[in-house]
Amino acid sequence: MVITLLAILFLAVIAFIAVAGYRFVIRASSPHQSVETEKCAVCRKDVDKHHLIMRQVGDYKVLYFCRDCILKLYTDLGIKN
Ligand SMILES: [Zn+2]
Repeated sequence: MVITLLAILFLAVIAFIAVAGYRFVIRASSPHQSVETEKCAVCRKDVDKHHLIMRQVGDYKVLYFCRDCILKLYTDLGIKN
């Protein structure tokens, strides 16, 4: 009797873990998470990749710059000249 109860309890724990894992996988693959973001090389904010300017430095290093940082750099350049 005790072994039967333990077996039922064990199956319930397995079922709970399976349901929790399934929900975690569904949440991880939801469309809200699929927006590609990259860190801006200057301010380090995560920004949607489509709103960043990409520049390759050397053979492999790729830098991304957000609009705000580009405008700030442009303003700083205007002040100096
Ligand atoms: Zn930035």
